Amino acid sequence: MLTASTDIQYLKGVGEKRAVVLKQKGIDTVGALLRFYPRAYLDWTAVKPISETLFFENCCVKAKIITPIKTSYIRKSMTIYKFWVEDSSGRMEVTLFNQKFLAEKLREGREYLFYGKVEGNLFKREMSSPTIMESGYNGIEPIYPASYNLSSKMIEKLVKTAVSSLCLEETLPEEIRKRNGLCDIKFSIENIHFPRTPENLERAKKRLVFEELFVLQAGLNFLKKHSRGKTGCKIEKNYLGEFQSKIPFSLTNAQIRVINEALYDMSSGKPMNRLIQGDVGSGKTAVAAALMFVTALNGFQSALMAPTEILAEQHFKTLSGIMESTGIKCGLLTGSLTKKQKNSLKDALKKGEIDVIVGTHALLVDDVEFDNLGLVITDEQHRFGVAQRGKLSPKGENPHTLVMSATPIPRTLGLIIYGDLDISIIDEYPKGRQSIDTYCVDTSYRQRIYNYIKKFLDEGRQGYIVCPLVEENETMDITPASEYYEKLKSGEFKDYTVGLLHGKMKPQDKDRVMRSFAAGEIQLLIATTVIEVGIDVPNAVIMVIENAERFGLSQLHQLRGRIGRGKHKSSCILISDNKSPDTKKRLNVIKNSCDGFKIADADLELRGPGDFLGSRQHGLPDMKIADIFADREILHLAGKEVEFLLKSDPTLKNPENTGLRKEISALYKKLNAN
Ligand code: ADP
Ligand code: MG
Repeated sequence: MLTASTDIQYLKGVGEKRAVVLKQKGIDTVGALLRFYPRAYLDWTAVKPISETLFFENCCVKAKIITPIKTSYIRKSMTIYKFWVEDSSGRMEVTLFNQKFLAEKLREGREYLFYGKVEGNLFKREMSSPTIMESGYNGIEPIYPASYNLSSKMIEKLVKTAVSSLCLEETLPEEIRKRNGLCDIKFSIENIHFPRTPENLERAKKRLVFEELFVLQAGLNFLKKHSRGKTGCKIEKNYLGEFQSKIPFSLTNAQIRVINEALYDMSSGKPMNRLIQGDVGSGKTAVAAALMFVTALNGFQSALMAPTEILAEQHFKTLSGIMESTGIKCGLLTGSLTKKQKNSLKDALKKGEIDVIVGTHALLVDDVEFDNLGLVITDEQHRFGVAQRGKLSPKGENPHTLVMSATPIPRTLGLIIYGDLDISIIDEYPKGRQSIDTYCVDTSYRQRIYNYIKKFLDEGRQGYIVCPLVEENETMDITPASEYYEKLKSGEFKDYTVGLLHGKMKPQDKDRVMRSFAAGEIQLLIATTVIEVGIDVPNAVIMVIENAERFGLSQLHQLRGRIGRGKHKSSCILISDNKSPDTKKRLNVIKNSCDGFKIADADLELRGPGDFLGSRQHGLPDMKIADIFADREILHLAGKEVEFLLKSDPTLKNPENTGLRKEISALYKKLNAN
């Protein structure tokens, strides 16, 4: 007896060889074959009169062959067959290439169905290489993603066998199906492959989209609630008052609330798994510092992971400034340390002599060990994949984890990507912040812009000019940013101190530049997007972004977040000569909004989810049929149902939910394999 988990090799008509090909396509079981959906359909039911067919559109015509089939041999390898067909509305010429077998089967005077693209002109319609069926055929034919060694027809045949020999288990409880008008699993699988009518196909699709989004959210939710074991790190004492006395400002109410939400988790005996979302400049670093401070005073180590060395170094300076007077030892681990430095640092970590470690992904290396790691924080989370996020945690005994993000992930996607996390939001800026004025101009304004920058520099402020990264490659040692820097330094800004910062500089050089920019010695910094994340210099109040059209919206928002951090009014100028409506629309989004959430949503809408997330960045399994953005309404409906269901059956032990539970464990396997 076949089940969904039966190896595909044992399906009738497969065998060892074909099984290999199928498995290359990810079809390893009979169940997976049934979930291998067609990529398109030929609808033989929608027959059109010839005279009404539209040029260049695929359509289906039912017509009689009214001429003999004329054969011409073009060259050795090419034979062409031509004939005319007619229905009551008109006629068209059909051409077949090299399809000897088919051509010899066709009979003059008989009626057939022709499916293909109509071309030609007003006087003559033509169809080349149509798919041809007996006129009695009445169905919608599935087209599968085929390859040279596995045709769509063959897949269709195998799916037919599987559909008829397997009884699929229902994954959606009846009540939920009823409430949302969804058909059952049997109907939907049969009709996604072999729909009798377009309406049936739609119904099947709707159900499968819902199911996919339902299982995904149920899985993430389940993970959130049940995968957490116990933690060895229990925070007993809250040293927040002491922390407050170590920093030069008072925490905002939002910061205090978020810190308390985290401390509550950390005192519960279960590992915290929390995301902090806060727009650029909302003060996430202070929250991280507070939690690391409290963790250290409770006797545990903590680690802060940043996506770039510059940021790691900056965090290290901030943290050690706060901590060391209390006797908390801080360390910095990045790729640029010498082997000796690294080894002594690792040794100290292992012995527990360092309480707070800051680093880049160098922290993920296997031989970094801890004495008693209690808290892991990753900053600017969107730069790390889900897989990397999980990597530090095994280094302790279920340590608490906190991820911080400036929310370039739109709400819709955040729901899914961070579905396994609890969320805290910093929805308040530190007091005294002024909004940033943003302007979009073209290069004809350049001189005026330079004068404008000088005005700020003369008042003692600092500024950035950001250049896009143009295909930096290994052999190229001069970047566009360095050229631009040379030009400005000896020209327009020769009376000012100008600095250069780009990704290809040696870490020590980067550090030196950042240090003197932070100290106010450099007035104008020419930089690439290395400054995008996290860099914090409140005296910098003007930013000019060259070729602004080359940046993503969220990236522009992040860049702009480098200014407007202090008590002075800040301005951001986006330069672009690109006049396309699309660019205009995008830059206007930045000009008109300072809300990271809104910008991310617009970015997603303009670019689509695939682009937005980059290739598999998010570490979620590929969606088979659902489109997280286009189907976001169903996403929400399914999310509500998940909540509802898990309330009434938190462990899914109800027999009605067995099918769902199995789907969820299959999903976990995929998530872990990613
Ligand atoms: P982000 O959330 O973008 O990481 P940062 O943590 O870098 O923001 O903080 C931005 C700036 O605001 C820093 O200069 C920081 O010192 C300052 N800051 C943070 N919290 C407060 C506060 N409560 N009051 C005043 N300034 C604050
Ligand atoms: Mg930050």
